Amino acid sequence: MIIDGRKIANELKEKIAIALTQVADKPKISAIILGEHPSSMSYLKMLEKTCNSVGFSYEIIALPIETSHDKLLQIIDDKNKDDQIKGLLIQLPLPDHIDESAVLMRISPDKDLDGFNPINAGYLFKGEPGIRPCTPQAVMTILSEMGIALEGKNVVVVGRSNIVGKPLAMMLLEKNATVTICHSRTKNLSDFTKKADIVVVAVGKPKFLTKEMVNTNTVVIDVGTNMLNGKLVGDADFEALVDYVAMITPVPGGVGPVTNVVLLNNAL
Ligand code: NAP
Repeated sequence: MIIDGRKIANELKEKIAIALTQVADKPKISAIILGEHPSSMSYLKMLEKTCNSVGFSYEIIALPIETSHDKLLQIIDDKNKDDQIKGLLIQLPLPDHIDESAVLMRISPDKDLDGFNPINAGYLFKGEPGIRPCTPQAVMTILSEMGIALEGKNVVVVGRSNIVGKPLAMMLLEKNATVTICHSRTKNLSDFTKKADIVVVAVGKPKFLTKEMVNTNTVVIDVGTNMLNGKLVGDADFEALVDYVAMITPVPGGVGPVTNVVLLNNAL
């Protein structure tokens, strides 16, 4: 079965739009980008459309790539203080002369739409309420919307990045799954993935997860986004897996659309 991420995203969008009708002042989201990355800019423009469609107001602050570290921190401070701004996001990666950690730490934790501020990461680690990173939260939303219970399930997360694998493992633990995190030094990866009820693959390598690595009852959540021969593809070999595993998210149309709406849910 193919999991329809766009349908899940649209349903969530409708809920956010309804919730926003109860808010007197139109809340604003501010996105900061340094330099001209066409793909990052098209992502921010797409986000603008989604924001407008649910009732957020939105601004993109496009700064020159040579913007100084201090100047960027000053702009973040101003946005933190601005009561109209309810959510702030900084498009990554940042240029080399900017200390990314310091920047992420500077965003007020309650406006930190991406959930990257170490304070929010700490809340997640402790299992306390806080803003959660969007992509792992999107995975959790998909599992929940598909009615997939997590308690006692064996979940293998392939990839241990700070933005996907690690936070996702924490969120799965909160739901009482038994979590295994695999990475590039894992030996005999298939031994883990084959036994899993759910495999989440976030590696960044096209067609990495093959039919031989899973079983027919597996649910595959594909976080990967890779360009292959001019086409967007995931980390799973979708064509080989789609009629083999129990459920799978496609790329495009799986985790990606849900991630964007989760960001708005964080703002809400
Ligand atoms: P990343 O920071 O590059 O991390 C990749 C992870 O994969 C690392 O932990 C790495 O292990 C592991 N890995 C690499 N080769 C492996 C192998 N042969 N076997 C097992 N593990 C291996 O990537 P990321 O930022 O987490 O992103 C992962 C993918 O998700 C990318 O395609 C990215 O574009 C996509 N993504 C999608 C969304 C979305 O909303 N859909 C959001 C974010 C990212 P080591 O730690 O040992 O190096």
